Amino acid sequence: MNQYSQLRRFGLFDANVPRYTSYPPATQFANDVTPARYASWLSQIPAGAPVSIYLHVPFCRRLCWFCACRTQGTSTLAPVSAYVDTLIQEIATLRDALPQGVVAQRIHWGGGTPTLLPPADIARLAAAVAEAFPTSDTSEISVEIDPNEIDSARLDALAAIGMNRASIGVQDFDPEIQKIIGREQSYEVTRAAVDGLRARGITSLNTDLLFGLPRQSLAGITASMEMLLSLNPDRVALFGYAHVPWMAKRQALIPTEDLPTPEARLSLFETAEKILRSDGYDSIGIDHFARPTDSLAEAAKAGHLRRNFQGYTDDTCDVLLGLGASAISRLPQGYAQNAPSTAAYQKAARAGALATTRGHTFAAEDSLRARMIEMLMCDFAISIAQLQAEGFSSKPHITALLDQTARHFEGQVTRSEDGIEITRSARPLTRLIARHLDAYESESTSHSSAI
Ligand code: SF4
Repeated sequence: MNQYSQLRRFGLFDANVPRYTSYPPATQFANDVTPARYASWLSQIPAGAPVSIYLHVPFCRRLCWFCACRTQGTSTLAPVSAYVDTLIQEIATLRDALPQGVVAQRIHWGGGTPTLLPPADIARLAAAVAEAFPTSDTSEISVEIDPNEIDSARLDALAAIGMNRASIGVQDFDPEIQKIIGREQSYEVTRAAVDGLRARGITSLNTDLLFGLPRQSLAGITASMEMLLSLNPDRVALFGYAHVPWMAKRQALIPTEDLPTPEARLSLFETAEKILRSDGYDSIGIDHFARPTDSLAEAAKAGHLRRNFQGYTDDTCDVLLGLGASAISRLPQGYAQNAPSTAAYQKAARAGALATTRGHTFAAEDSLRARMIEMLMCDFAISIAQLQAEGFSSKPHITALLDQTARHFEGQVTRSEDGIEITRSARPLTRLIARHLDAYESESTSHSSAI
């Protein structure tokens, strides 16, 4: 049986699988994580500990049809500025719930469209964050930039708050595909945003490209990739388009008959991957690429790569604090998610309360399986010695889990004295292999295609 048939046999072209940006996946969160429980977890953070902060801005000027993000359209800035007031209130509530002196090692502004914020709102939100969470010399401040929603004044404001990494979503440069997915963004507009960032000294640039879009061809993705590389990004995320119109209603506007088959999706990914590799990018995990000198590539080489809600990261903080509607926090005790609806979030936060409505409290087994899955997603391997060094002591249990996995994926996973490793040609199966270690998940249409 050739490798293509093997990938089919293990379900690559049929299965829906979590992306494992968390374990358990957010679909498993329940409402037993209350504001009181989250407050108790916050109080246990050591004084002076480094933390990561995520600020969610759930507004966009227009809603792109392909996008499944939790966000809402707005034609005026009034609700956005009111939302910034609420975020500032939430920052104050959180500061009071935290021990003294935590340091913000990472601050990420995501959405939605954070660059919808007017310069004055960017400045006052950043000031509130800086007052509550001082940064250090090595802190990273990153912002998701929408090239259609950025101008000189906003770029100046972002440079002034210390932004040192920017992420730009591209999806695909083909104007026909852009029309079909409801997001028109010319190369010139993207190039202008990149030039504006670089002119202000922001040299660390992430970009995203999607594979699996309607009418995307091998020649088309090659052309888009070459245009992307002309921007010389430090990192490229090559995400598979997840068509889930039963969850993201606006995707119903995208014609299903124009979508590539799962087999064609694999070819699109492999074509883009080949171009990136031949241009000198290192492969990072299942879908990221980075210049060899970029900190993400260095973390991968050193075995320090981690995975969180934003994808791959070299962030090693144990605590991620999510602020804003639907934002998820991760602490050693578990996950806590704010109210998903902007209205419910604002009601709680404006009353000076934590807006937590759901989450997951880790049992010891969760922590072990979460780490094993993270190792697979980051390193394509699980090392027993590494797990033991990190305090997971139950060797017979770990060994049993690895034996089961190696047996189930015979020929795709090699078993050694120290653990398991996914063979190079079986890497497309990584999420399926991770699911084998997932005690909660069965196949579900709430997840995206395995490829
Ligand atoms: S792609 Fe960006 S701008 Fe478009 S709807 Fe999603 S978050 Fe908003």
